[in-house]
Amino acid sequence: MLLNIEKIPDEGLNITFDDVEPWVIQAAQVGLEGKVLRIDGELEVHRKGQLIEVSGALHAELSRACDRCSEDLPFRLGGPVNLSYVPFDDAAPEERELQEGDLDVGFYTGSTVDLAAVVSEHFALSLPTRLTCEAEGFALPACVRPASSKASQTQDPFPVDSRFAVLKHLKLEN
Ligand SMILES: [Zn+2]
Repeated sequence: MLLNIEKIPDEGLNITFDDVEPWVIQAAQVGLEGKVLRIDGELEVHRKGQLIEVSGALHAELSRACDRCSEDLPFRLGGPVNLSYVPFDDAAPEERELQEGDLDVGFYTGSTVDLAAVVSEHFALSLPTRLTCEAEGFALPACVRPASSKASQTQDPFPVDSRFAVLKHLKLEN
């Protein structure tokens, strides 16, 4: 979904996500690496010269494997949106490098901002490095399967630091 920045009115553009189109779901799935069931929220797009600012809030309900117990579980992720976009063409190479280090600043090419990329980026930023049933935003009150019973059946997909693994091994032998 390409947004022509020339068509952003002075008072800004409001986009609601109550009646969600497939591209929004797809964009959210790219960012969240899970099956997105529902999206709600709204975005405000403002233009200040060549700077495009996107604010508002966007949440997604998704089903994704828990990084702790491997169960497919319902999560709710997202939150406030605070993203800025500057024209890629105008940025000098050094500037680009600087801004690439800043997660909240993206680029647009020509006179269009890709809203799908905005949605993907927002949700990618909202995704914790480890998404578990203990995380804030998990939709159920507790893990459906205790980690201890599961741990004995499957290998931990996120092994601890190998230095600690050595310590653990030594302790067992003592
Ligand atoms: Zn879990």
